[in-house]
This record gives sequence, C-alpha cells and structure tokens, in this order.
Amino acid sequence: MSWKLKHQQEYEYLYIPEFDSTGIIAHGITTRSCGDMSPVAGKDNYQRMASILFQSDPKTIFVCRQIHGNNIYKPEKRCAYPPEADALITNRKGITLSIFTADCLPIFILDPEKEVIGLVHAGWRGTMARIGQKTLLEMKKIYQTNPKDCIIGIGPGICGKCYEIGATVVEYMLKEFKGFTSFLQQKNGKNLLDISSLNKQQFKEAGVLEKNISVCKYCTAENNSLFYSYRMEGENAGRMMSVLRLR
Ligand SMILES: [Zn+2]
Repeated sequence: MSWKLKHQQEYEYLYIPEFDSTGIIAHGITTRSCGDMSPVAGKDNYQRMASILFQSDPKTIFVCRQIHGNNIYKPEKRCAYPPEADALITNRKGITLSIFTADCLPIFILDPEKEVIGLVHAGWRGTMARIGQKTLLEMKKIYQTNPKDCIIGIGPGICGKCYEIGATVVEYMLKEFKGFTSFLQQKNGKNLLDISSLNKQQFKEAGVLEKNISVCKYCTAENNSLFYSYRMEGENAGRMMSVLRLR
C-alpha cells in the first residue's frame, strides 16, 4: 500500500489505490500544480479543486481553524465560524472533510468495516498531543471502530532529515514517547524529528496493523517543485488540501 501521483487534466494529486478500491470513499491530496488551497476569505480555489478532482459539492466541505491542538470535530451542521480543531471524523456520506498543510502531516484514517473516516492535521505540537491516535480512539468510542480494521495513510510532510526541533521539545518528547524507537536523531548539533514515524508508532500502539499504515515517501521541503513548504518558503507559503469523503 503506497501513495501514488495521479494526473487529471493539468493537475496532479496524491492518492492511495487501496483506499479507492474499498469503493466507499473519495480522497486525495493536492500538489503545487493545483495552486494554493489556503481557505482564507476571498480564496475559493480549494472549493473549485475539491469539485474538479474529488467531485465534492462545495457546500459539503468542512474546514476547521487549525490551531495545532488536539480537538476533534464531528461535522453535522455548518456553522457561521469554522470550529477550532485539527481533526475531523464522520460516518455520514457526502460530508467532505478537509485539512490544509505545508510541511505538517495530513493523516487519513479509514475504517472500511463500520464505514467511518477521520482526517488529521499533525505538526509537532499535535503529534506530541497524540492527535492521530486520539482521533482513532474517538472513532472507536463513537462508532465502534476496531483499529485492526483500519487503514491509515500518512501524507507528505517534512522528513526526518530536514525537520529541526528545539532542545526543550526533544526533552519533552523523549519523556512522552518512552519505549518508542528512534524518531529523533542528532546530526551536526541539530535535533532532527521524524514526525511520520512517530505518528505511525502511535497508530501501532493503538492497535493498527503495520501493513495497514502507509507513509508517503515525499518530503515537502525537498520536493519544493511538487509541494508547498513552510520551512522553505516561510509564512507566505501556499497550502496543499487533503480531502476525504464517504460516497
Ligand atoms: Zn526532507
């Protein structure tokens, strides 16, 4: 199971064939070729692309105000202001979950048995707060999801060779993730975090099978022609959109 690039018209996006072959979802992650997906006022490119690539009705797209926390939102009715959350879960057909990233990880969770989905935004703060694992456990609590049934797609983000973090974060992580294998490396006096493997281990800890977790091979900082990167481009970097919807 792995992420693949797919061409549609002049656009390219990432998807996992095994997710599609369940026949119950539409999903994918835009690349730079689709343009900046930032969902700020006056910019509706994300709605246009969600419609072109994933056949989502713009009215069904749920967008959160991502705050690097571990709040999980269960969209039902549209509200006037986007809720503060970094993960979305639903078992309702037709609701389009969306997450926006540039270096942080988008994580797709699919329970094909109970037909439940989750979409997560995980940077180092969210990862430290176990946002991915917490989202899966919430699916278990609300929808009786069995982690053994789940397939997980960890999308493109900054890799373990490029992601430098501060000494206080290192100290905290070593304490919080005791018993986890090497997700931190020291090189030339820098502390480097492999955020994908740390998230993968959290899913394994929660009972997901290793073979059912796919980690994207692309690093957003090293593939700047394909992806937006906060690390490489700073505050004005565009965003990629992740989309997940039950059909
Ligand atoms: Zn890298």
